[in-house]
Amino acid sequence: MSCIFCRIVAGEIPAEVVAREPEVTAFLDVQPLADGHVLVVPRAHAACVEDLEQAEADALFRAVVRLAGPVREALGAAGTTIGVNNGEATGQTIPHVHVHIVPRWPDDGAGSIHTIFPRRTRRPLGEVAAAIRRVVG
Ligand code: 5GP
Ligand code: ZN
Repeated sequence: MSCIFCRIVAGEIPAEVVAREPEVTAFLDVQPLADGHVLVVPRAHAACVEDLEQAEADALFRAVVRLAGPVREALGAAGTTIGVNNGEATGQTIPHVHVHIVPRWPDDGAGSIHTIFPRRTRRPLGEVAAAIRRVVG
């Protein structure tokens, strides 16, 4: 098994696990962006969100919802930024789906999700929405 997160889930390599469920494991990021930076991962290997089975996705998001409050409370944080780098082109470095939960404070110097984008849009909203609706069906 070469995937590092599969190995953490299997208990083959150490991690600071904060929650373990049949379908989901949550552990501290080894290079935290802030104290309490947690990664929530599905047991089954899937590279991207689109590769998750529905039940895996349900369990993953349920765990994120269940952990967000306790992570915030444990660190005395004002909120959490929750995000997924979904695909190599987005900066995903470990190709096993993982949800970042990062505690936030008003003066922590970090921005919102909006601050990672330079807002380079080219197409009108209606055209974009229609294109997506066609594929969603
Ligand atoms: P990504 O950029 O793929 O969304 O984030 C991967 C995260 O996994 C990074 O924040 C990185 O610090 C973390 N990470 C990489 N290797 C390990 C490891 O072996 N153990 C733990 N706990 N975290 C890791
Ligand atoms: Zn894996």
